[in-house]
Amino acid sequence: MPDQLDRSFDIIIIGGGSAGAVIAARLTEDPAVRVALLEAGGPPPPEELMPAAVSSLQLNPTTDWMYTADAGGAGRGLTDGRMMVPRGKMLGGTSGLNYMAYVRGHPGDFDAWADGGATGWAYDDVLPYFKKSEGIQPSGDIVVDADAHNTEGPLGVSVRTPVIGAAQQFVSAAAAAGIPTGDYNGRDRGGPDGVASLFQTTTKDGKRSSTFHAFLEPAMGRDNLTVITHAHVRRILFDGGGDGLTATGVEYHTADGTIHTVTATKEVVLSAGAIGSPHLLLLSGVGPRDELSAVGVDCVHDLPDVGKHLKDHLHTGLFFPAPGVGVSMTEVAISLGPDALRAPAGPLPADPADDADLPPELAGLKAEAERQLIEWATTGTGLPSSSLYDAVAFFNTGLGDEHTHDAQVGFLVCGYTPEIWRVIFRMDPDEFFEDPAVALAPDAEVVVVLPNPVQPRSEGEVTLASAEPTDAPVIRLNYFDDPHDVAVMIATMRRALEIVDHWPGAGLGTMLVPPTLAATHGHRSGDVPSDELLEDLARHYALTVYHETSTCRIGSVVDADLRVRGTANLRVADASVMPSVVSGNTNAACIMIGEKAAELIAADHDVTLHEIVGRS
Ligand SMILES: Cc1cc2nc3c(=O)[nH]c(=O)nc-3n(C[C@H](O)[C@H](O)[C@H](O)COP(=O)(O)OP(=O)(O)OC[C@H]3O[C@@H](n4cnc5c(N)ncnc54)[C@H](O)[C@@H]3O)c2cc1C
Repeated sequence: MPDQLDRSFDIIIIGGGSAGAVIAARLTEDPAVRVALLEAGGPPPPEELMPAAVSSLQLNPTTDWMYTADAGGAGRGLTDGRMMVPRGKMLGGTSGLNYMAYVRGHPGDFDAWADGGATGWAYDDVLPYFKKSEGIQPSGDIVVDADAHNTEGPLGVSVRTPVIGAAQQFVSAAAAAGIPTGDYNGRDRGGPDGVASLFQTTTKDGKRSSTFHAFLEPAMGRDNLTVITHAHVRRILFDGGGDGLTATGVEYHTADGTIHTVTATKEVVLSAGAIGSPHLLLLSGVGPRDELSAVGVDCVHDLPDVGKHLKDHLHTGLFFPAPGVGVSMTEVAISLGPDALRAPAGPLPADPADDADLPPELAGLKAEAERQLIEWATTGTGLPSSSLYDAVAFFNTGLGDEHTHDAQVGFLVCGYTPEIWRVIFRMDPDEFFEDPAVALAPDAEVVVVLPNPVQPRSEGEVTLASAEPTDAPVIRLNYFDDPHDVAVMIATMRRALEIVDHWPGAGLGTMLVPPTLAATHGHRSGDVPSDELLEDLARHYALTVYHETSTCRIGSVVDADLRVRGTANLRVADASVMPSVVSGNTNAACIMIGEKAAELIAADHDVTLHEIVGRS
């Protein structure tokens, strides 16, 4: 039963993630507006700040929603054939567990949104919001289109220090293959040939700059901001019906199961992400009537597209032994400090109390790990200062979507551990490698090249498994449903192999092909892979790039001002409103959506922001 501690606010924001944290921080610049931010998770744990520790936050129920999904025409080689769908569950949301690549998307992506009816979302409209949030730190290691950037905003954007040689070599190889070096966040992305660069990352002084650290943390002390953590929102409450359907508040439960309500006098803003936002609309009775009634949810507003048009990116890891080029996992573990070297996986005792009698070699290892950890903590430099996903190229395959770059190739400077492959990636190293003990040996220096088509045409969906708010929704990713996506994947993989062919110096080793697929396609080590083999590799082992979007897209579910169609006082602002996924990583665009949403909300309710950058 609801308790008696119910409270009323002007504006309630559901979800303190990439977009929601920005909205809460911006709106409460006006002391007269009372905002409640409800977040299912808590504050981020200390390791969230360390970029290289990124994978430790996944599959941890306190920081990750831990969804999995039907992978459609992909995922054949993954555990249970299902794709992992991690989503951040903490203040900062998925910006707290992502790989920190700072990528805005191609200018043509936003112009296409506007051409499709999303008035006010063309590139010239959204650029001021990207700039408003950004605080880029100068770097001589990348090309920067200064007029497209801002050094004064709260979001840390930087290039890791020192640059890892392998990442620099990737950029050189791309240039040698005909992809010029430049600013992929610049106003001009260089035509079909594209652009390559070290990644700009959402880090500040070598530490993660999530939207919690950049926006919310500095605002937490404001009297007009109430942040309610560990508040799992169950549904949005409405008054009236038909044309008068009005959002009035939300119902949530806390860890002990107690149900509470909070009411909003002005509006409810749904920023629960591309999975969470459609899930909550559906649980609240806003969605396709037939689907809702099938699971016993009363439909208050029949809105057929809620949860539909799900887009995501998929990349296929091309794995290369790279002696003298790649970073070994031993090096990574040492840089993370002594705790990363403890038993059972590492050589140090499980219990630090047993360190007293360490032999000299292990005592030296421990001292070096302590030195590197302190170096990172105090100067922000060293291996821990990036996710090790460190360089990228964008280009056009020529297969369509000429308004933008339809292909991205990411670059990972290490090969990860067997445990990460098995648990996080849901891939069995014993199946992928002929000799996993060699390929993923702690001292093995390897790199992974990640061809990633970024204008997929296949669409998935999010639907209700049941009316119970704690049951995960059903996620169908439907990868490769459209044959165009297969063709672009193969073309992107071929271009990635051309980049590898142009590697400087001694180059990389021979690409490792899973033995079963090699046998099926008559492939011998060192052969040029056939299109059929590349397709099979993608269908078995391509992985999500974690860029779910468009499940409450502008035009179908919300209008261009992000108001939910057919309702009053209810907006959605997060990855779900993207009319289609941007041609790149999605966090920066979600932050931009948060910035623009804050100005839209402020304009509707006479909230005074410190700065208005939107074009009126
Ligand atoms: C592993 C991983 C790596 C990634 N790497 C990159 C990268 O390198 N670069 C990049 O640009 N993008 C990356 N992304 C994608 C990017 O981070 C996301 O697109 C973006 O953060 C989504 O922002 P959002 O505001 O839509 O949702 P989120 O940031 O997910 O915020 C939603 C918030 O709502 C909360 N919430 C959900 N449901 C409820 C509920 N019922 N009650 C209360 N609270 C709720 C969640 O806990 C969460 O805090 C990555 C994503 C993942 C998972």
